[in-house]
This record gives sequence, structure tokens and C-alpha cells, in this order.
Amino acid sequence: MHRALKIGILEGDDIGLEVVPECVKAMRAAAEKTGLAIEWHPLPIGRKALDTLGHTLPPGTLEKLDMLDGWVLGPIGHQAYPRDNPNAINPHPILRKHFDLFANIRPAKSYPGLPALYQDVDLIIVRENNEGFPPDRNVYMGSGEFRPTPGMTISVRVITREGSAKVARAAFELARTRLRKKVTAVHKNTVFKLGCGMFAEECREVAKEFSEVAFDEVMVDTFAMRLVMKPQQFDIIVTTNTFGDILSDAAAGLVGGLGLAPGLSAGPQRAMAQATHGSAPDIAGRSIANPYAMIISGQMLLAWLGHKHGEPRAVRAAQLIEAAMERVIRAGKVLTPDLGGKATTDQMGDAVAAEVARAPA
Ligand code: ATP
Repeated sequence: MHRALKIGILEGDDIGLEVVPECVKAMRAAAEKTGLAIEWHPLPIGRKALDTLGHTLPPGTLEKLDMLDGWVLGPIGHQAYPRDNPNAINPHPILRKHFDLFANIRPAKSYPGLPALYQDVDLIIVRENNEGFPPDRNVYMGSGEFRPTPGMTISVRVITREGSAKVARAAFELARTRLRKKVTAVHKNTVFKLGCGMFAEECREVAKEFSEVAFDEVMVDTFAMRLVMKPQQFDIIVTTNTFGDILSDAAAGLVGGLGLAPGLSAGPQRAMAQATHGSAPDIAGRSIANPYAMIISGQMLLAWLGHKHGEPRAVRAAQLIEAAMERVIRAGKVLTPDLGGKATTDQMGDAVAAEVARAPA
């Protein structure tokens, strides 16, 4: 690759304003260390954009994102947006749909020394992102949820062959890069014979293309039990939208909570780094938010861009951030309160960036 990577910075709301700058700090340090050229593009989104430009997703933002390779998105606190303002929309579903960000990749990894229910967990949930149950994104017009009578609500779940095959392929491609090389498809085709049945069929078809990757299937209820009893047995998990949403929060809980839950939403052309946690208004403005999830989301974006564009410096930059974060956690001196430390958000971000700078290039 002979040009700079173009990466957007969208801070979001509440703790987004605190953790996104730390993510960018670590990415900048890693780019500098590896000689990776990045063109940064700060763009308005969320509450700040509503107050200054009159819209939470201002006109032109989608067009500008179209010109970029990927972006870092802070959490969006849409629950607190004014209900009576039609311009105060939740930008998430629009971004995911517009850029076909069909795979939501959510790792859960434990670190020795951190308070967690389990050690030795290193799994990734790959969740279908644009179909399934969420009514705000599973239909072209209207809503996937409706109320034909005052006493009845119907929620539609959308499963397509194409969507299932795409997310399965993303999971297998990821598994190929891992040590254990194993994919577990999670569904419930014994009950949802057509929906989960179709998802399972597509996973099996894609599995045939990846002979080096082991494949098995587990019913979602059994999986939930096995996840809490022995999470170490899993490597890559591929599943449908809502199952993945719930199970990835459970997995985060096993290794230390939402502050340790990064995420990447990837599509055919672009990817969006976005931590699993919300905007956490209860702790916003106090500089106690854990920047881990946002920094590692940015790290995942660099790795994804590196593989996508054949840019080894981006892959190396991602490795540097991961190793720096591990060293900061192992040292245990500069950790935010949720990890048992006393450091502020920016102190922990500074420590990661300093470790990146200290590493051999
Ligand atoms: P959403 O519905 O937007 O996903 P949520 O209701 O799941 O949001 P969060 O905003 O994710 O809620 O917060 C859940 C809890 O986790 C809160 O107590 C919050 O303070 C805590 N939390 C979330 N993110 C972090 C973080 N980065 N560091 C420390 N604590 C966090």
C-alpha cells in the first residue's frame, strides 16, 4: 500500500469524549513507531453535533465516511437524546446499514492479575450485525416490531442465506489467523428450524471452504451454560444478532466487565472500531472510565486494515498496541478504578502510548 490510511475520529457521547482520545493516542504512537502513515479525519456526531450543527448525524458525515478506510466511533448516549427532536436520532443502525458492517467482532480475553471470574479465556464472538431481531435495522422501511392489537406485540427476526454466509466467512477467516483455529456456530435449529436452520446450513457450507479450521455447533442454551462453566474451551464463536449481543456481554462479564470489552464492526470495504460498552453517563466527566475497550477496538481496526490493504506496518502497529496494553496490565501500576487501580483515563492511555513508544520497532 502506497498511500496513507484514512481514519475518522467520531468521539460520540459521555465517556466517548474521554476514551476516544486515548485510543487515538495509542494508534498515533504505534503509527509513529512503525512508520505507518495515517490521515486523521475528526467528524461530528452525537450530542455535540446536535448542539452545534442541529443533527446527531449531520449532513455530509456519511459522505465523508465514504471517503475513509475506517473510523473510531465512541459510544453513543442516544437514550438521553431529546425525544421530541426528529434530528436527534441514534446514528448506529444507519452507519451499520449504510456501510454494510455485517460482522460485529467482540473479543473476551482475561489477563493474569486482573479481577475476573476466569483466567486463560481468549475467545471472540462474531455476531451478525444487520439482520436478526433488532427492529431498527432488520427491515427496509418501517419497523421489525409491531402491535396489531393493544395486547399483542410481534417481533420479526430476519435471517438470510447471504447474511449468514457472510458472517460465517468472516468468522472462519478470523479463525484461520488464530492458534487454535476453531469455529463454534451457536444457534437453536431444533426449535427455530427455518431461521436458525438456515444460519446453521450456511455455516456448514462455509466450513467446507476452510479445511484447516475445526468446526462444531452448539445450541444457544447449552452454549450459555458452557460459556459460564468453561469459557476456555471456545475460540471463535459465530452467531446471529441478538444471541451474539447477549452472549458477548456475558463473555465480557467473565473476564472483568464492560471496560474490557472491545469491538469492531466490519464490512466488505470498511470497518468501525467501537467498544461494546455504552456511553456510561453515570461515570462520565470524572476521568475514571477504562480506556482499554476503546484502545483495543482501535488496535483491532489497525489489524483489520493491515490485512485488508496488505499493509504490514498496520498489522505491526496493532501488535505493538496489544503488547503495550498487556505490559501495562501486567505491571498493574496504572489502571483505572474498575480494574482495581487509581489511575485516570488519560493516565492509563499515556501509559499504553509510552509502552508502545518504548517497544522495539
Ligand atoms: P447501552 O445500552 O448504551 O449499551 P448500557 O446500559 O449497557 O449502555 P453502559 O453505558 O455500557 O450501559 O454502562 C454499564 C455499566 O458499565 C455502567 O455502570 C458503567 O459505568 C460501566 N461502564 C461502561 N463502560 C465502562 C468503562 N469503559 N469503564 C468503566 N466502567 C464502564
